[in-house]
Amino acid sequence: MRFKRILLKLSGESLMGEQGYGIDVKRLNEYATQIKEVADMGVQIGIVIGGGNIFRGLSGAGKGFDRVKGDQMGMCATVINSLALSSALDSVGQKNRVLTAIRMEPIGEFYSKWKAIEAMNRGEVAIFSAGTGSPYFTTDTGSSLRGIEIEADVMLKGTRVDGVYTADPEKDTTATKFHDITYEEVISRGLKVMDITATAMCMQNNLPIYVFNMDIVGNLKRVLNGEEIGTLVHN
Ligand code: UDP
Repeated sequence: MRFKRILLKLSGESLMGEQGYGIDVKRLNEYATQIKEVADMGVQIGIVIGGGNIFRGLSGAGKGFDRVKGDQMGMCATVINSLALSSALDSVGQKNRVLTAIRMEPIGEFYSKWKAIEAMNRGEVAIFSAGTGSPYFTTDTGSSLRGIEIEADVMLKGTRVDGVYTADPEKDTTATKFHDITYEEVISRGLKVMDITATAMCMQNNLPIYVFNMDIVGNLKRVLNGEEIGTLVHN
């Protein structure tokens, strides 16, 4: 096993599965099962989940919402997804804890690094919700921040594509996949692995990112078993 402690980033969009909106229970349960499988291997797991399946601040602003309120709505959306994931983890018998970046007891405990590490040391999966707690950020930035704070060995970015490509493989059939790539190249080529703020934070704090397809059941375990199925972003 390559990693002892991971920060897993799940996108809200993937959570809607085949549906156009909201939470696909089948996908949710697949995620929970995959997570339990690697927790049983002894890997400590922190999770950040996006909210794009419910609300995004930027698209809200486009429809006339105040940006800050829109972003706060987006952060609430990540809390909804986090609770759904927590419940699904409970169902498969995986202990877990929802920590929130904004105070909202009893929905979740107010986040601190030490609470998170204590929970993970007890074998609980720590779910970090509400992103960074601040507007104008994304859950990618939230993942970088939490990953660095909890001293994760790697950020595993679960997406619906199997790595980083020279162009969007869903739009350009000539796109080729990188086995590994530096943060600098990701930024200079304008590749949409994560937003620049999130990528720069990982670069400055040496948190490697591994991009892989989380929607194929069993892939999370494959990554932790050292199978090279995705793309490593590093310094
Ligand atoms: N958001 C925010 N601050 C954060 C994290 C998220 O304001 O630290 C808001 C932002 O409006 C974003 C929304 O929450 O559009 C949902 O998060 P994100 O878009 O990252 O979810 P994803 O696209 O990964 O599903």
